[in-house]
Amino acid sequence: MSDYLMKNYAPLPVTFTKGEGATLWDTEGKPYLDVLSGVAVCSLGHAHPDVAMAIAKQAKQLIHTSNWYHIANQEELAAELCQLSGMDNVFFSNSGAEANEAAIKLARLYGHKKNINEPAIIVMDGSFHGRTLATLSATGNRKVHAGFEPLVQGFVRAPYNDLEAIENIAKNNQNVVAVLVEPIIGEGGVTIPDTDYLGGIRKLCDDNGWLMMLDEIQTGMCRTGEWFAFQHTDITPDVMTLAKALGNGVPIGACLAKGDAAELFTPGNHGSTYGGNPLVCAAALAVVNTMKAQSLAARSKALGATMLAQLKNEFADNAAIVDIRGKGLMLAIELDRPCGDLMQQALEQGLLLNVAAEKVVRLLPPLIISDDQATEIIQKVTTLIKNFIK
Ligand SMILES: *Cc1c(COP(=O)(O)O)cnc(C)c1O
Repeated sequence: MSDYLMKNYAPLPVTFTKGEGATLWDTEGKPYLDVLSGVAVCSLGHAHPDVAMAIAKQAKQLIHTSNWYHIANQEELAAELCQLSGMDNVFFSNSGAEANEAAIKLARLYGHKKNINEPAIIVMDGSFHGRTLATLSATGNRKVHAGFEPLVQGFVRAPYNDLEAIENIAKNNQNVVAVLVEPIIGEGGVTIPDTDYLGGIRKLCDDNGWLMMLDEIQTGMCRTGEWFAFQHTDITPDVMTLAKALGNGVPIGACLAKGDAAELFTPGNHGSTYGGNPLVCAAALAVVNTMKAQSLAARSKALGATMLAQLKNEFADNAAIVDIRGKGLMLAIELDRPCGDLMQQALEQGLLLNVAAEKVVRLLPPLIISDDQATEIIQKVTTLIKNFIK
């Protein structure tokens, strides 16, 4: 424990020195199976040779120039992401929160263009959108707000998975310009909405002239079995944000826009010094190319379905298990009691997993895990949880 670090984290007592694929090693040489992927970041696993090579090669050639000049691989990455998503254009940031900041600023520009002087964005209870002032204000979790008031204004809250609540806001609030929503809630406990939810929001946005803005920072980049989670439906958003797995650990975020939303930023009204520099774009391009070459969306879908079925089978009729759910390789086991202690217990067993929303064991393995590693994860996780609830 360092006295020289601020106390905003409470790290578990372990330090990793090396990684390969889904395995990490600590300072004692003990191996761990990684079922967290640095919180859905290292979807290609650790030390992926293509990503490492792309970073090394780019670093030797050119790391940074600023957005005062054209950046060839930034343009290439933007084109790839638009092709994969059906969006029109991209702004690159350095993190998820900053990608959402860009989305929030787009919504406000959109409102002002329509002569709405105090534009408001509908956000959901239980959501997580980041830790900057605007994104923590958008977040639907009091713990994230606490102590940082006054919150940024211009957010209207609705319960998640409740279309009627959004309809009611539409009737009563003329300032709404956009809806910002996670297709599946991540940090808030892997909440999967009804199948008609995103379609319903799309329709409400169309009827009211609002932007539909999807936070795909956790669900994007093949995590849920499609490149982007909205692709499980037949809708397209107006704005989508990405980060996490986009760089496999290199800090990059993206805000993608379509139609009217794609025309709102003009020279000078938004920017970032590092955003989309040659180094991070080289890494992200390697990520995209590898995910394509290995068909990781399909792999995530198939393996996730298998693992979900195995978990359901292991815990059938277990009273301490409230729910088992997931999409692709975003899996969750909800217990009837707080289970944060499982993180330390898993660590002792050589397993890295995460507990979200106090009672939800969240599994986010790298998408490149083998069938054998998937089996090992199921065995270790079920043993761990069965011992915990016994
Ligand atoms: C992680 C996350 C963020 C914040 O991303 P940072 O890179 O930590 O700023 C925002 N939204 C969702 C859904 C996330 O999972």
